[in-house]
Amino acid sequence: MIARVHPLTTTRAVRGPFDYRLAPGQAVEVGSLLRVPFGARTSLGVVVELAERSELAPERLAEPEAVLGAGVGADLVELAHWMAREYCSTPARALQLMLAPGASAGTGAKLALVAELTHAGRAALADGPADGSRLTDRQRGLLTALAERGLTVAAELDTSGLRRLEGRGLVALDRRPRPRRPVMHAVGAASATAPALTGEQAAALHQIETALRGPDESGYLLQGVTGSGKTEVYLGAVQATLEAGRTAIVLVPEIALTPQVLWRFQARFGDVVAVLHSALSVGERHDEWMRLRTGEARVCVGPRSAVFAPLDDIGLIVVDEEHESSYKHEGDPRYDARTVARRRARRHGAVLVVGSATPRPESMVALRRLRLTQRVDHRPLPAVEVLDMRGRHHPLHPETRMALADLRHAGGKAILLLNRRGWSNFLSCRACGRVWLCPNCDVALVLHRSAEFVACHHCGHRERVPERCPACASVSVARHGAGTERIEHELREALGAREFPIFRLDADSPSLPNRARTLQAFEAAPAGVLVGTQMVAKGHDFPDVSLGVVLDADQTLRFPDFRAEERTFALITQLAGRTGRGAVGSRVLVQTLAPDARPIGFAVHHDADGFVADELERRAALHYPPYASLIKIVCSAEDEPLARETATAIHAELASLDAAVLGPAPLFRLRGRARSQLVVKAIQRRPAIDGVGRAVDAIAPGAARRGASVSVDVDPQ
Ligand code: ADP
Ligand code: ZN
Ligand code: ZN
Repeated sequence: MIARVHPLTTTRAVRGPFDYRLAPGQAVEVGSLLRVPFGARTSLGVVVELAERSELAPERLAEPEAVLGAGVGADLVELAHWMAREYCSTPARALQLMLAPGASAGTGAKLALVAELTHAGRAALADGPADGSRLTDRQRGLLTALAERGLTVAAELDTSGLRRLEGRGLVALDRRPRPRRPVMHAVGAASATAPALTGEQAAALHQIETALRGPDESGYLLQGVTGSGKTEVYLGAVQATLEAGRTAIVLVPEIALTPQVLWRFQARFGDVVAVLHSALSVGERHDEWMRLRTGEARVCVGPRSAVFAPLDDIGLIVVDEEHESSYKHEGDPRYDARTVARRRARRHGAVLVVGSATPRPESMVALRRLRLTQRVDHRPLPAVEVLDMRGRHHPLHPETRMALADLRHAGGKAILLLNRRGWSNFLSCRACGRVWLCPNCDVALVLHRSAEFVACHHCGHRERVPERCPACASVSVARHGAGTERIEHELREALGAREFPIFRLDADSPSLPNRARTLQAFEAAPAGVLVGTQMVAKGHDFPDVSLGVVLDADQTLRFPDFRAEERTFALITQLAGRTGRGAVGSRVLVQTLAPDARPIGFAVHHDADGFVADELERRAALHYPPYASLIKIVCSAEDEPLARETATAIHAELASLDAAVLGPAPLFRLRGRARSQLVVKAIQRRPAIDGVGRAVDAIAPGAARRGASVSVDVDPQ
């Protein structure tokens, strides 16, 4: 037999698969993970096909060196091929995303020697060894310990004793990431049984259950205002899926920020839920992954990569908060977990359910809609008021300051959102006008006052806070704009932090657990303010927030991006959703320099339908998604001419494509590399992707030799 293998290299130039000769009876299937000789080295590889014979003579074929632990299923191999094509990548790169955590080379997983009782070992413990030999008390003790503990790190018992038992076939030893089960954390109230559903919830669930039974390819969009009970509908749908004997995947944007969603699934379904998320150690993720692979766990909850969960017979895939940009992966392959979920659901005959209070126009067009129009507790949505900031210099509007003072007096909670971290956006010299820029990127450095440095938010470059201007030696440096750090400071000054705690949450908070702790502290505090970037609007469920404030709401509009309006609308609406759960008379204040901007107007009226209808009209007129597909090609090089030449060459290769190709347009320099961009706008998606793939394949290798690199992003964010 011949195994066709994709070596797991990241090089695009390697065009697998390659044939390997299998020894007779070697247990290898499509999806198996092998170690194979590859050129002068060895490499990990995944079997993508089995064949009777090769075009190469048998003596020219190498044999795999080893079959390693768990590979992936055949369905994931097929999905990897689809992804490679859909995102102009390679099957090897896609497969790397799908393997057991720690299985792929170079992840640096800490391996431990682990021991497990074999079948013969279990029998020996009951009836004595089959060969009639005897067990010493010490050996009996080891076997008993293994029987009780299951998979155990050998060193915790007695490695040499276990090795002797392995020699007798009673124990199996293996090198693996340390076996661990993540600890479940109870977060908020969650119940093991479902509450009586509201009429709207029951109607939505009924539709999903019907779809679970029948052949149904449509997919559903569960559109419901925050607090309308969408999660309860997902829970019901998972229940129905499990009862039908099938499995389910639930994608969430970020578990560390919304731990109570995970907890609700664990509380309802217990051990049958496995969780894959980045805050777990590699060992923990590996073991959760194995529980899914072996069928011990049948529900996977996790962020975008959980879309590759090794489950068979998937009946349901849920995408919670589907508007979140974190579903898009920013490394090659630049996949969108929402698109992959749709494709995987179709393959398994699974029902796709995506949910949001602010659905994307793409989902409105493509999916059947289920509505939840009322909050479960029937509380009204908060009043949204616009505050005009034109001509004002203080970052907080007087109305905002008054509302905060009232809140402090009455003892409530507020969330302040400003999508910009640090103290000031940029520094300039008052004497000569010099602006402090990053030496590697063409962007201004941001002042972080408490840590006393200025930093580039793109490449991480840092410098000490300047004392004088290097150009003219003036000591007068002006600070422009305000970030979350400065707002936190302003609030402390204005409110007196001793009696009224202020919490800050942004990417400067160092670790995920740290951010989760900040959220917990805010939740536990009787009163206070949470200040932060868009993270503060992400699904966390605080019962008693009565004031929401968006600072510089039109900031997101100033990005030259066709999704700018969608993002602005979602941000305000999501913050409004976090406000007023449990408090009557709550309000949201929107500070902006563009009080008449379209998305702000719709957000004031909580009008998601109106916004999307309007947005779809605009996108149809301008040929934007969902009415066309965009593909972004970025060429980068140390010097600008080479980046531009590479883009121009690709542009020429695309001449025959039935699509508009915009550019080359210069992008700002990033990490010391000049960049030039092309954007392909195509009505016919498939031929455009294939055409771009061919053009890049034709130009990229030559460009790489000269030091230019090319990256392709299908459906860029
Ligand atoms: P969403 O996901 O739409 O924001 P959730 O599912 O989190 O809404 O529901 C909001 C709150 O209402 C949660 O605390 C949830 O436990 C509760 N809830 C949801 N459905 C019901 C119901 N049918 N009866 C009682 N409480 C419910
Ligand atoms: Zn100067
Ligand atoms: Zn930089």
